[in-house]
Amino acid sequence: PLVLGIETSCDETGVGIVRGQTLLADAVASSVDEHARFGGVVPEVASRAHLEAMVPTIQRACDTAGVRLADVDAIAVTHGPGLAGALLVGVASAKALALSLGKPIYGVNHLAAHVAVDQLEHGPLPEPCLALLVSGGHSSLLKVTDITTGVDPMGATIDDAAGEAFDKVARLLGLPFPGGPHIDRAARDGNKVAIDFPRGLTSRRDLERHRFDYSFSGLKTAVARWVEARERSGEPVPVADVAASFQEAVCDVLVRKALDAASAEGIEDLMIGGGVAANSRLRVLAEERAGRLGIRVRVPRPGLCTDNGAMVAALGSAMVARNRQPSPLDLPADSSLPVTEVLAG
Ligand code: ATP
Ligand code: MG
Ligand code: FE
Repeated sequence: PLVLGIETSCDETGVGIVRGQTLLADAVASSVDEHARFGGVVPEVASRAHLEAMVPTIQRACDTAGVRLADVDAIAVTHGPGLAGALLVGVASAKALALSLGKPIYGVNHLAAHVAVDQLEHGPLPEPCLALLVSGGHSSLLKVTDITTGVDPMGATIDDAAGEAFDKVARLLGLPFPGGPHIDRAARDGNKVAIDFPRGLTSRRDLERHRFDYSFSGLKTAVARWVEARERSGEPVPVADVAASFQEAVCDVLVRKALDAASAEGIEDLMIGGGVAANSRLRVLAEERAGRLGIRVRVPRPGLCTDNGAMVAALGSAMVARNRQPSPLDLPADSSLPVTEVLAG
């Protein structure tokens, strides 16, 4: 089936088109530049940008894929979680398309879509697999038994998301928003063992209650204290070393717990998804350590890790392939949709 997917949960207006699990088009318009001077995404600005970008982005996706809207067999849309107003633009657009074309609509979960997208690049997702979902708003370990129905959290961050930590530390170092890619770049010239930053929830005591959970707020505070002390002493802040050492602390604990969870469940495939999966060090470290345990790692190319429409189309297409019941045409946007609810019923 030919499936068109729409993504508007944050600041990317994404429209993707897939046939089965073959990617035909992935058009993304971002309003990130409009938010940069505020140091974070401004919801009202994002909603307006989605409104303006929606029709041209749909057009661009169709042109790239070489298909007409009338050829589309199903519409998929992110209906949560995310910014309420931003989600509404995507959901309303998807409903209008589904209604006018007389095609079914699938309201899907953005987080599950971050996992499903890997199928476009590496083929069918092994089930069960373990997914490390690391994005701007979420960080969790998911056991995936069926990407269309069975996504179960084994653990999650108890405070900041990994991407949020990258963004906050970048700000502290005077790097632009969103900070993840800038830290990644700065870290290349730095020494990752220069500063021994804390690995959250890894003490023996914490592991008893939080074996598969993450915590990044203590790390963020530790970086802030370290930078402040430097500034007080009048010495320059070694941005590259701080970036590399911070990045190492995040990636170390992410990979450590993900592999521990996979081993505990006897799962041999680890999928890493979400914006932070674009991080170059995370990718290398996961490959290195998983290899020693005989665990296979799947990470989509960076452009498919950050928000896009192709991931929504990929999950929608999986719904069609597995004969899932389409969503009702009055499906709501749900800003706090839990990861366990993969399809709007
Ligand atoms: P969610 O998916 O939880 O709703 P989101 O959609 O806003 O959140 P994504 O687009 O999946 O988030 O990811 C954005 C996050 O990824 C940002 O915090 C950004 O800094 C981070 N990020 C992007 N590239 C990199 C990178 N190379 N290294 C580290 N972090 C990165
Ligand atoms: Mg974004
Ligand atoms: Fe996302």
